[in-house]
Amino acid sequence: MATLGAMGAPSGFVDLRSDTVTRPTPEMRRAMAEAEVGDDGFGEDPTVTELEVVYAERVGKAAALFVPSGTMANQVALRVLAAAGTAVVAGRRQHLVAYEFGAAARNAGIQFHTVDDEGGRFGPQDVTNALELAEYHQPSVSLVCIENTHMAAGGVPWALDELRALRAAAGDLPIHMDGARLFNAEVATGASAAAMAAVSTTVMTCLSKGLCAPVGSVLAGPEALIAAGRVERKRLGGAMRQAGVIAAAGLVALRTMVDRLVQDHARARRLAEAVAERWPSLGVDPAEIATNIVVFAPPDARGVVEHLGAHGVLADMTAPGTVRLVTHHDVDDDGIERALLAISKAP
Ligand SMILES: *Cc1c(COP(=O)(O)O)cnc(C)c1O
Repeated sequence: MATLGAMGAPSGFVDLRSDTVTRPTPEMRRAMAEAEVGDDGFGEDPTVTELEVVYAERVGKAAALFVPSGTMANQVALRVLAAAGTAVVAGRRQHLVAYEFGAAARNAGIQFHTVDDEGGRFGPQDVTNALELAEYHQPSVSLVCIENTHMAAGGVPWALDELRALRAAAGDLPIHMDGARLFNAEVATGASAAAMAAVSTTVMTCLSKGLCAPVGSVLAGPEALIAAGRVERKRLGGAMRQAGVIAAAGLVALRTMVDRLVQDHARARRLAEAVAERWPSLGVDPAEIATNIVVFAPPDARGVVEHLGAHGVLADMTAPGTVRLVTHHDVDDDGIERALLAISKAP
């Protein structure tokens, strides 16, 4: 029988709830132990500074800021890009709309103008329409936010031409890219992270998901905005001290964990094949699974999650009736085989 292990990780389970369950690799643990550190409050932690420089270069921005979480990266971006009382255009199922517990209202005082993001993206016309609303007694738009890859839609990456069309429609408006899984998009589409991020003013990425670092995200953008973001991070309580201990793992993540994401993507496609076979009517098309997330809505979602759990496979639910399976570094081919078998026998 699978049990909760001494480290808190459910040993014996194939854990497909999220890629956040990944644990730091041995190389990360070594880098953490040996990290050079200082007080980042004085700008004196060389490892944090190095991580910020490496990420900024990787996404083609002038500067970057290390923050404790992806949520804080999004919140800092909202605070530096969107004035209180303005509208922010975003897909209705994006993380910063639906999964941050109202933080955008509380921290940034903004109101979302949400648009349909069923397929993970939205179009230039959605932005144009939102901009026009200011002429009809509605709040003016200060910012557009996109999610790449889009989690709730099933890890959907934006294509470069879609991003560029949105950029054109946004005119002078800034765009913030929630690239929590930007490198999954890079590996899946072949477009570089920098080319994708070029359409946005700011971009953030989680180091703590498929890239396996234990903690931390990075927000990049122009020098002055990142300097303002540093103040907002302090206000949110996210300024850290000898954070080089965790930034060291983030450096290993950026340098060594991106290329292997292709394995997670291949495994997610196998899961999607099993889902499509078990529930042919749900419309899950394995060919459309581009990255590491499979979402589907079986007739009895809770029953499916319970059944999988009873067979040693952990799944999550992200909305009523919606099951999510996420592949990652800590699930190997044997784990996938177990999951495939459990899916085939699901009620
Ligand atoms: C996980 C996630 C975040 C937030 O990251 P945390 O580190 O969990 O706060 C933001 N956006 C997306 C798309 C995510 O998947």
